[in-house]
Amino acid sequence: MVYDVVIIGGGPAGLTAGIYVKRAMLNALLVEKIGVGGQIIITDLVENFPGFLEISGGDLAMKFEEQALKFGLEIKGLVEVSGIEERGATKIVKTHEGDFETKTVIIATGTTPKKLGAKGELNLIGKGVSYCATCDGFFFRDKVVVVVGGGDSAITEAIYLTKMAKKVIIVHRRDKLRAEKINQEHAFANPKISFVWDSVVEEIAGEKIVGKVILRNVKTNALSEIKTDGVFIYVGLIPNTAFAANVKKDERGFIVVNDKMETSVKGIFAAGDCRVTPLRQIATAVGDGAIAAVSAERYIEGI
Ligand code: NAP
Repeated sequence: MVYDVVIIGGGPAGLTAGIYVKRAMLNALLVEKIGVGGQIIITDLVENFPGFLEISGGDLAMKFEEQALKFGLEIKGLVEVSGIEERGATKIVKTHEGDFETKTVIIATGTTPKKLGAKGELNLIGKGVSYCATCDGFFFRDKVVVVVGGGDSAITEAIYLTKMAKKVIIVHRRDKLRAEKINQEHAFANPKISFVWDSVVEEIAGEKIVGKVILRNVKTNALSEIKTDGVFIYVGLIPNTAFAANVKKDERGFIVVNDKMETSVKGIFAAGDCRVTPLRQIATAVGDGAIAAVSAERYIEGI
């Protein structure tokens, strides 16, 4: 059987594409490596997606999925894509669960948190080092935690961690945050949050669990230590695009698209955080998903 569309990735972009292609009566399959939802599943609170004053990322993901299922989208979880091959007018989406033949592909695979690269980091993952406050914050009740980074992820997750931890110390490599102004204001106003500016983490140390971080001031090169029970790392994102070897990407691996979400390969579209974009938000991902779906529909009409 040949699908009209195979959507790779079940976050906001992929599920929105799914809703739109099903409403266009296309024969569509969505494959997802883990379960649907994407990065928003590990977001405690979403308050900038219009229509919802406040909603948890998990609840929002469930609503997206429910809506896609209502229109009959076929979703397969635990399917990891290893490549996309071109075969005449169709594409073959290669996975460990077998191959799926399709006229078009929408890549909506999102991103993965970047590792910091500090000494001790990898050995202490799950022993105090974490990339997900909503998953692991619970273990740090009344403890001291360090959050590394100055973007929206670091700041919003630091605010979330103040619900459990007694003290949250944000370590940032500059003296200005990158996060949205409103998030900055909330963090500055939070009495449990303090900042260490112009500093990078040289080492995360501890016997069996995290005990301290060693910092280096980037202006003076002076070293200092902070005793801490946990280190939450939010230093940016890596696109999940390694399998898409044939499409054009930028130097960091984000997929290059035009305003129709067309990639450099005809019939392959990309949407959401995995593409080159000036803004990575749920609102932009759903917009991308809708455009990619309509572009796929028009491409199919054309062939
Ligand atoms: P990001 O915006 O790329 O920020 C990464 C942060 O980590 C920056 O502050 C960066 O410092 C710092 N950093 C990078 N490499 C580092 C290193 N090796 N050592 C120390 N610090 C390092 O990533 P993000 O915060 O994960 O956000 C990703 C996207 O999702 C953004 O578009 C963001 O707006 C969006 N997002 C939005 C919300 C929201 O509530 N609206 C929530 C989460 C994410 P510099 O500032 O010096 O570069």
